[in-house]
Amino acid sequence: MTPRIESEVSRSVWSAIEKRRVQTGESIDHIVDALLAEALELDRHSLFQVSTSTALVQGVFGGVVTVEELRRHGDFGLGTFSGLDGELVIVDGDCFRATAGGVVEPAADDREVPFALVTWFESDVDVLIDAASFEEMTAAIDSLRSSENLFVAARVEAEFDRLSMRAACKALPGENLLEATSHQSEFDLDDVKGSLVGFWSPPYSRTIGVPGYHFHFISDDHEVGGHVLGLRAVRGRIRLHTGSDLHIALPETSEFLTADLSGDHQEELDAVETERRSPDS
Ligand SMILES: [Zn+2]
Repeated sequence: MTPRIESEVSRSVWSAIEKRRVQTGESIDHIVDALLAEALELDRHSLFQVSTSTALVQGVFGGVVTVEELRRHGDFGLGTFSGLDGELVIVDGDCFRATAGGVVEPAADDREVPFALVTWFESDVDVLIDAASFEEMTAAIDSLRSSENLFVAARVEAEFDRLSMRAACKALPGENLLEATSHQSEFDLDDVKGSLVGFWSPPYSRTIGVPGYHFHFISDDHEVGGHVLGLRAVRGRIRLHTGSDLHIALPETSEFLTADLSGDHQEELDAVETERRSPDS
């Protein structure tokens, strides 16, 4: 639920708000929210990332921040949990954990997170979508993005005929990301309603983030979710939020401090993020 404030204001402030409403056609909620954000020096375009994708590929799965801390940096985002124990989705400020088969539970505030990307979602773009495939949907988002060099948070609230999904399942000691995801849970969700929660990251961010599109899903009833590998037929609404100010929280664990992060792991990352990996699927 969006928080509400009830407050007395002076007549002069009220008439100035009224004047702006008539001039711009914006709602009073929108005007007040935007002005307060500006006065309080909130950065609407900041992204907060925990660790780097290279560290994740190398098997640095130890927790860096708690869910509680992560939620202080945004109300929208995705990631994973300590030990690669499930997929993380934050939507409307609530954090969820998806495990084997897509089963979702609320994520406890003290659960630890080794990798995540979050933002305060504020839509710059809001359009309807009716696409037959993942490729068609991302092409539509591509045409709405303002630049190849800025990050974009994307929320797709829609009905999906089918979502192909996976949920990471706890890594065994010493496994890297490629090994750990070889025993991930893979499943399809048919005729579901919910939100894709994701980001498009620029190619230059490839050692830090997941370049291109990365989506997690959570159903409207918060019952099923996970990491999205593909989809068929989506009808609903796309909202985009541009991010131009990236903050990265680097782990200070010995696991991170001694990892070799000098390489480029694009191929491994592509395999992990977009392909079915489980031998039984
Ligand atoms: Zn993911």
